[in-house]
Amino acid sequence: MRLTDKFGRAITDLRISITDRCNYKCIYCRTGNEGALYGDLPFEDYLRMARVLVSMGITKIRLTGGEPLLRKSVVDFVRELAQLRSPNGHREPLDIALTTNGHLLADLAQPLKTAGLSRVTVSMDAVDPDRFTRITRVPGGYDHVLAGIRSARRAGLWPLKVNCVLMRGFNEDQIIPFGMFAREEGVTVRFIEFMPLEEGRTWSPDTVVTLDEILARMAEYRPLIEIPHARSETARRYRFDDGIGEIGIIAPVSHPFCGHCSRIRITSDGKIRTCLFSVWDHDLHAQMQRGASDEELAEFIRGVVQKKEERHHIGEPDFVPASRTMVHIGG
Ligand code: SAM
Repeated sequence: MRLTDKFGRAITDLRISITDRCNYKCIYCRTGNEGALYGDLPFEDYLRMARVLVSMGITKIRLTGGEPLLRKSVVDFVRELAQLRSPNGHREPLDIALTTNGHLLADLAQPLKTAGLSRVTVSMDAVDPDRFTRITRVPGGYDHVLAGIRSARRAGLWPLKVNCVLMRGFNEDQIIPFGMFAREEGVTVRFIEFMPLEEGRTWSPDTVVTLDEILARMAEYRPLIEIPHARSETARRYRFDDGIGEIGIIAPVSHPFCGHCSRIRITSDGKIRTCLFSVWDHDLHAQMQRGASDEELAEFIRGVVQKKEERHHIGEPDFVPASRTMVHIGG
C-alpha cells in the first residue's frame, strides 16, 4: 500500500541525516558551537529504517546532515542502500542523492558514484573565496569545495546542483556571479530563500531575498526563460536565453510548495520528522530498540505520516519555531 498522508500526498522522498556534526559553521545556520547535540546511529540502524520505508514506497533517498561526508564508511552505506529494492515490482534502482558542503568531496566523489550514488548537491553560498570564508567561518574551504564540484562532475554525479542560501546583507550581491558560475562550470545553481531554522534566531522577513528579487537581479545580467517543472519539484527552473546555464529558485517563504510535499525526514538520532517546521518528532529508533518487527515499524511509520502537517506558517502571527534547527534536522 502506498504511503499517503491525510491530505492525499504520496510520500516517496526520504531524507536521512547521518550526523548532526558539521565541519563548517555557516553564519546563517550555526551559532559556532562545535559539536553534535543529538549524535548519530550505526549505519545498520539507518539501513533497516530505509529498507522498511522503501518497502512502503519510498523511491528517493537523500543523505544529509550535519555534514554527511564526516561519517567514515559513508561509501559502504551508499553501497548497501543501492541494493534496496521495493518488493512490489519496482525494477528501477533507488534514486540516492547526497547534500554536502563539498569540503571532503574531491576524494570521495568517484567512490560514491561507484557505490551507487546517483546525484550530489553541493552547498556554496559565495563564489568569492574571502566572502566564502566569512560565511563558513573555516579558512581555506573555497578551493576544496570547487575541487569537490569538479570531481563530482568528472565522476558523472549528474545532474550536479549547487545550492546557495541568500541572506540579505551577506551575499545577495553574489546572484549575478553565481549566474556566471553556473554557465562556466556547467552546474545548476539553485538559490534558496532563507528560512527561520537557524540556531542564532536572526531570521526576519527582511532577511529573505525573495524569488522575485532574484529574478529581477539576474535579468540585469541576461534574460531568463522559465523551464516547465514537475509539480512535486521544489525548485522553479530557468535557463539563460542563449541556452547556456541553468538556475533554479527554491522559494519556500514567498511561494510555498507544501501542497505537493512528498518528503519525510529521519534525524541523525533516528526520529521521524514530517515537516522541517514540526514542533515534535517521532522516535522510530526507540521502536527498534524495544524490539519492534519490520511490520510494527511500518505500522508506526504509517501512523506518523498521518500526522504530517498541512503546511508551514512562516511569517504568520501563529508561527511557532521548529523544535530543532536545520543542522540538527538534516537539510
Ligand atoms: N552540510 C551539508 C551541506 O552543507 O549541504 C548538509 C546539511 S545543510 C543543513 C543542508 C542545506 O541546508 C544547505 O544547503 C544549507 O545551506 C541549508 N540551510 C541551512 N540553514 C538554512 C536556513 N535557515 N534556510 C535555508 N536553508 C538553510
